[in-house]
Amino acid sequence: MLSGGTGPLPDGTRGGHSTSSWEAPRTAPGKAARRAARLAADGPACVWCGRTLEEGLVRATTEHVVPRVKGGPSWAENELVACARCNRARGHRTPAEWADECERRGWPVDRERIRRALEELAAAIGERGGMRRARRYVESQRRRFR
Ligand SMILES: [Zn+2]
Repeated sequence: MLSGGTGPLPDGTRGGHSTSSWEAPRTAPGKAARRAARLAADGPACVWCGRTLEEGLVRATTEHVVPRVKGGPSWAENELVACARCNRARGHRTPAEWADECERRGWPVDRERIRRALEELAAAIGERGGMRRARRYVESQRRRFR
């Protein structure tokens, strides 16, 4: 006979909840580390609205230059740091469309940072190959950030 489970058997492998109030990424390991590196390199401001990102005040999130649904890779080169509000509000709009919208709202879009990110991503795709959808997307966006 099958023994009818005599209560929960906790195997106790759920520990280690590193409670960070910065997003809760249970996905790619190293993502938080990459974001920290981006923050250090680019400065602690949202790429779209320029607000200073501060833990507990303006939440930092990882923004994708080419959205994942548009074939964007989960590479460091496809990532920017943006505040949660902008990240959500942009949705799946292209960087060019969303930058225009931000400027209509009077926000100081960091176009130089976006231009650089597009260059880096184009170079990374060139090196690693593949990514046909992302490649086309990047090419059309690069023309709009010259
Ligand atoms: Zn923002």
